[in-house]
Amino acid sequence: MKKILITVLAVCLLAGCTGKKETSVPSAKPEETADPTYQIDYLVLVNKLHQLPDDWETNLKTEHFTNTVGDDVEVEVNAYKAYLELKEELAKEDIYVDLDNARRSVAVQQEIMDEFTKEYGADYAAKIVAKPGYSEHHTGLALDLYLIIDGKDIVLNEEMMQHPEIWTKIHAKLADHGFILRYLPDKEHITGYAYEPWHIRYIGDTEKAKEIMSKGMTLEGWLGEAKETNPDIILGSSEAYSDEERQEMAVLIKCQFAAWKGCQLQNIRYAGDLADEEEILKWLNENNPDCGFVKAAEFLMDFHSPKEDSGSLNPDQDYKDYQWWLGCDEEGSWQIAGFGY
Ligand SMILES: [Zn+2]
Repeated sequence: MKKILITVLAVCLLAGCTGKKETSVPSAKPEETADPTYQIDYLVLVNKLHQLPDDWETNLKTEHFTNTVGDDVEVEVNAYKAYLELKEELAKEDIYVDLDNARRSVAVQQEIMDEFTKEYGADYAAKIVAKPGYSEHHTGLALDLYLIIDGKDIVLNEEMMQHPEIWTKIHAKLADHGFILRYLPDKEHITGYAYEPWHIRYIGDTEKAKEIMSKGMTLEGWLGEAKETNPDIILGSSEAYSDEERQEMAVLIKCQFAAWKGCQLQNIRYAGDLADEEEILKWLNENNPDCGFVKAAEFLMDFHSPKEDSGSLNPDQDYKDYQWWLGCDEEGSWQIAGFGY
């Protein structure tokens, strides 16, 4: 799939960033398609917990163009206009960019999910591919930039990460054109994604963009959707892990649980520091032989199962103290290691 290393690809797809392009004939210029009745919610929130609104794809107006790599890229019309202005501003400072990936339809995301499921199995696919309907790239407002340095296209994430000074200059100009940096460093527990300097989001309002960027906020935080709106997460107390770490773990669980169709979350609670961590670790590593967990944590969840029989759960039933185990590898990355009774 494209010219992207598999390790990079994993990061990209998790972030919902990279995928197959849709091929399409270039359409008219934005001016020619200007429609005074065209209205979309430029502040729409689409993330691992918030699905793309049902009518989004039918209302959306987009532009297609071919980037310097020769790929077709599709962007929402006003985001595209704003992007062209940003690009022009950057060129004045000898910074050259293009778009690797912008809009991707739910249907194409489903194709990617199906391909990965076929190739690697459902569990792995669910881990590395953004769930169809839950990628911000569906909106047409999320744009992945790449750099052009000395005439050379720098498209690989790992290479792009080598130019923090260029990104800083780019980020400084985003808000003037109605864009924000979407996946900030150290905000993974809020956005669900690690830092991505290239993934920018059009929000259609320069004043709001300036406020968000100047405060270093996530869109979730600014919309009041972050942390404080997780009353169903009960962090309790811990000697082993900070509030932020436990919050991050709970959000991981919440994100995975969000995929359990029809299930109603009641709460997620930190189960307390593990007295028998060694034993739990041994067991988690046996069940996840490639993970190399060095730390473990446990949470408890109350939820209600869907009315219809889903196969794995008893229908229309309260599940109390359902257990979730998380493992942390040597790099400090937490993941879900098991759940059940
Ligand atoms: Zn992206």
